[in-house]
Amino acid sequence: MVQRLIGAIEAGGTKFVLAVAREDGTILREARIATRTPDECFPEVAQFFREAAAAHGPLASFGVASFGPIDIDPASSTYGTFTTTPKPGWAGARFHDVLGEFGAPIAVDTDVNGAALGEWLKGAGQGCTTLAYTTVGTGIGTGVVHKGAPLMGFSHYESGHIQPPRDAAVDPFLGACPFHGDCLEGLAAGPAIAARWGQSLSELGSPPEKVELIAGYVAHLAASLVLLHMPDRLIFGGGVMKAPGLLQAVRRQTERKLAGYVRAPQLDPGLEQFIVAPGLGDHAGITGAIELGRIAADQ
Ligand code: ZN
Repeated sequence: MVQRLIGAIEAGGTKFVLAVAREDGTILREARIATRTPDECFPEVAQFFREAAAAHGPLASFGVASFGPIDIDPASSTYGTFTTTPKPGWAGARFHDVLGEFGAPIAVDTDVNGAALGEWLKGAGQGCTTLAYTTVGTGIGTGVVHKGAPLMGFSHYESGHIQPPRDAAVDPFLGACPFHGDCLEGLAAGPAIAARWGQSLSELGSPPEKVELIAGYVAHLAASLVLLHMPDRLIFGGGVMKAPGLLQAVRRQTERKLAGYVRAPQLDPGLEQFIVAPGLGDHAGITGAIELGRIAADQ
């Protein structure tokens, strides 16, 4: 059987990953470009897919997993449009403007929903009915996949802007979020850690008291995700989570916060099977974007 070709974009804050793949996920062509303004990026995106189509054949659909905030409601007239993003030039930019010339269906979702889908399909979330994928990096966000479909409400979830308890005696840092100050992203994302201590956790040598402080905030999110979604597994990725000891500390503190209230075989003692690192490493996003495109090609 001849497989259809899917165009995929993982749009991140620092780079775009572009790919053309067969619908089974085999990547035929891949490129990375630096994220600048849409006026600078979009012509390069179009050129990549034009060349790929000339070499491999027409593209059946596109899947985009993007930073946000972005309209991911397919029924909306502004589907695929960046909304309130503070990133210069991106508010109002729309993926359909660059991909429309190919005349193929376009699916747009968030970077974390894309990564959740990729991990569910081929990574550490295989076999889960409900999976939550959280990135703790330049920002904090969570994608939830239920039976292979990313979840949303009237918009995508914004788990990074939940405000956890903060003990000012232990952590006098007021937080770095321009909207909320000491929300999760304002306290525990990479830029917040750098603003508080001048360096990343890894650069600081992962001192236990600092690791425990950040782990407490991440564990507040982990416990909240359990209580709200009852997922079969929680995956935590992103640059901050690479700090030695952090994932282990998140497991310990999440178990303490849940305090034995939720009992299920998914919640193994120590949470070593329940709270895990991504199985696909940095490939989760583009894997999910290809799958979003494959789903769009079927509709
Ligand atoms: Zn916030």
